[in-house]
Amino acid sequence: MPSVLQQLSANRQLTSMRIVLKCSAEATSIRQGPDGQAGTDPAWLACLCTSHTEDLPGWPGTATVTNDGARLHCGVVLDYRPVQQVLQSHADLWLTSLTGVNPQALGHFWYDVLDQSNRVLLTRLEEDGGGEDEPLQDLAMMLGMAVQNASEGNLFQALVPLAHCETLTQGL
Ligand SMILES: [Zn+2]
Repeated sequence: MPSVLQQLSANRQLTSMRIVLKCSAEATSIRQGPDGQAGTDPAWLACLCTSHTEDLPGWPGTATVTNDGARLHCGVVLDYRPVQQVLQSHADLWLTSLTGVNPQALGHFWYDVLDQSNRVLLTRLEEDGGGEDEPLQDLAMMLGMAVQNASEGNLFQALVPLAHCETLTQGL
């Protein structure tokens, strides 16, 4: 009997694995989103524990209780969307609010979005005098990697450091 997660993720190409909650509990439910038409595969799957079942308002969808046990921790999101949509999701959930850089204003040219965002963070770190805000320093370093990936035309690869950045924003 395949688990709920296996059923939902079978034969699908994962675009990005994201950790959007700091929680070490086992997932007891899987939220699928967004609510699409019947018969279509969910765009993403979010694994949540009992106490976080109702959390993550930025990830609206339908939850299914799972008996998958310790397969995945709470806060793990399996994102199957096309690269551009995952990038937009990062912008919507944390990047734009953190840096003020709006992808729409830059024509969704993601190298520019990431590069400008990184410059904002580096300027902020410089003004802070450095050393005081460690999560922000780590975040700027990771964002720098994403900029490098994007400059090489590899936005898919840029999703890896961006997922780390997203996790780091929980410590800000
Ligand atoms: Zn949890």
